[in-house]
Formats: sequence, C-alpha cells, structure tokens
Amino acid sequence: SLTIGIVGLPNVGKSTLFNALTKNEVLAANYPFATIEPNVGVVGVPDPRLGKLAELFESQRVLPATVDFVDIAGIVRGASEGEGLGNKFLANIRESDAICQVIRAFKDENVVHVDGKISPKDDIETINTELILADLQTIEKVLPRLEKEARVKKDKQPQVKAVQEAKGILEEGRTLFSAGIAQGTERAEALHELHLLTTKPFIYVFNVDEDELVDEDFKNEQRSLVAPAEAVFLNAKLEADLAELDEEEALELLQTVGQDEPGLATLARVGFETLGLQTYLTAGPKEARAWTIKKGATAPEAAGVIHTDFQRGFIKAEVISFDDLVEAGSVAEVRARGKARMEGKDYVMQDGDVVEFRFNV
Ligand code: GDP
Repeated sequence: SLTIGIVGLPNVGKSTLFNALTKNEVLAANYPFATIEPNVGVVGVPDPRLGKLAELFESQRVLPATVDFVDIAGIVRGASEGEGLGNKFLANIRESDAICQVIRAFKDENVVHVDGKISPKDDIETINTELILADLQTIEKVLPRLEKEARVKKDKQPQVKAVQEAKGILEEGRTLFSAGIAQGTERAEALHELHLLTTKPFIYVFNVDEDELVDEDFKNEQRSLVAPAEAVFLNAKLEADLAELDEEEALELLQTVGQDEPGLATLARVGFETLGLQTYLTAGPKEARAWTIKKGATAPEAAGVIHTDFQRGFIKAEVISFDDLVEAGSVAEVRARGKARMEGKDYVMQDGDVVEFRFNV
C-alpha cells in the first residue's frame, strides 16, 4: 500500500506525533497488523458515512480506510552529501509515496531547537535544501549521457528538455512539486525514471502551541509559505493525550481548544487525498467498510481490492449512491425507486458509491 514518510529536524515533535499515531485504539483492535512494523503507523481516515451505514445495516463493526505513515528518522544537514545516515534517510524517502514534514512552531524553552531559534520558514528551507541537492545530484549524474543520446535519437529530446527544466527549478531552490511538476502530471512522466524526491507530494504538519490552533492569521501565513502543498496544524502533545482517551472524553478536550476533531484525523484525511486515493463503501450485518482505491479506478479494479477473484470473475456491480441510500432508508427501497444502478466493467467508481459486486468464481 502507499505510504507517507514523516521527516523533520530533531526535537520538533516527530516521535511524540508518531507515538500518538500508533496508539490508535480503535484501529489497533481491527487491524492487528497495525503494530507489526515498529516504524509504521496505520491511521484510520474518519468517515461519518460508515457510522450511518452501520446503523442502517446493523453492522457489527465499522472498518474505515487507513493511511500508512512511516517514521523516517535522521534528517541531518548534509544528508545529500551521502554519508551513512544521510544515504539511508534519502533511500527511505525514495520509497515513500508522499513526504510529510513536521515543522516546529511551538515555543518551549525546555526543548532545544537545533538551530537555536523557532523559525518554520528556515526549518522548511533546511530540509527542502537537502532534498533539492539530492535531486540535483541525480540529474547531474544522468544529464550528460541523456544529452549525448538525444543528439542521435531525436525522440529523446523532450526528455532532455524536461530534465533541463527540472534542473533550472531546483537551482532556484524550489522543489519540483511546488513548481507544479508533481508525479502523475505529463511533465513528470519524462522524469519518472530518475526517481526524484521532490516530485513527490508534500504535506506540512505544523506542531503549534494550543493558542495557535485557532489563530487564523498565523495559520494563513504558514499556508502561504508552503502552498500548493497542504498544511495541517496540530499540537503533538495534545494529540498524544487525545490518543489515551475514549471518543467522548477526547471530544470534550478538543472543544476546550476550539477543535472538532483530532489533528491526526485531519492529517489522515489530507494524507489520503494527497496520495490520490478515494474510497467506496460496502455494508452488511458483519461490517460497514470503506475500501481504498486510486482515483479513477474502474469497477473491476475496485472489486479486486476485496479479492483478486472478484476482479477476475467480475460480471457487474450494483451501485447505490450513499445519499440515495440514506434518503430511501434501505436497499430494497432504493431498488423500488429505480435508483440502484447496474454498472459494467468500464464504470469509473465515484466517491460515496455503496457497492455490491456480482462475479463468477
Ligand atoms: P523529535 O526529535 O522530532 O522526535 O521530537 P520529540 O517528539 O522527541 O519531541 C522533542 C521534545 O519536545 C520532547 O521533550 C517533547 O515532549 C517536546 N514536544 C513535542 N511536541 C511538543 C509540543 O507540541 N509542545 C511542547 N511544548 N513540547 C513538545
């Protein structure tokens, strides 16, 4: 499955956040694998529709979609110079599908900042510089060969042009993602085989003091620093406390700081979105469940997420939109109203589809 790598300078709250991530009681019970890998945290993507489905179908349990966060230790200045830890650090980032930077904004005299001052802008620059330098090295290694090849093979010229353009952006100190060259875009295709780091989508998590959680001016300032990347604001210590509480107590604590959901829930949702994922829903007496698919997935591909046999033997899917189901109150009533659709193998799944697959075994 797709993973999000968590990086950041020392002492910004990564471990605190990661411990909160892995303490997710509800998920730990439903997903025993959640705690197998010590550096992987599995977080549920909150989806109020599941509770509603569980009500309608009297489901025994609710299984949300999940996002995997990987704790990537050890960003060090000079990582791109490829010494020991630095190499491992870059290799771990290369394996991640998105990069989540934890940035310190909280003030606490008892917690030393490696650079002696609290400055989100400088910290972001420090980390991004290492990633940018690593990409520049990759490019400088392959560009001379590519340019030479392109002199005889004209079809190589667009790729050379793309790599040269990327080099220019990186030399200006910008990440390729921030310059609009994100994975999946046409311009990124030509760069694909280089496995560059900064074409990965970025998410910035600002670890802030509690009063900053509701400070819109402050938050907008940080958002403009990182746009077009997403910014999430949370207090890691508060998240750690929340992880110890049951749902009702957690909600009470959240209200005292002007929040309506844990920062980790927001982070899971933003992460899921950033990875280009969406869900479809299934429901029955056993469980109400959200299944993870890529945006644009077809019905047979969606069936394959449940079981490869479902994809191989796919006949059709009965699709009901969540809103129609809630309005009608039961599948039978949706069918009676003619709102249950039979979709074939070319159907592209839509967010909120409630599905039952028909297949041959
Ligand atoms: P890491 O090095 O990035 O993994 O940082 P840690 O999670 O180990 O945190 C470093 C120190 O900062 C620890 O003493 C934490 O208790 C403290 N810390 C983490 N998050 C916060 C926060 O939101 N507010 C305050 N005041 N301290 C925090």
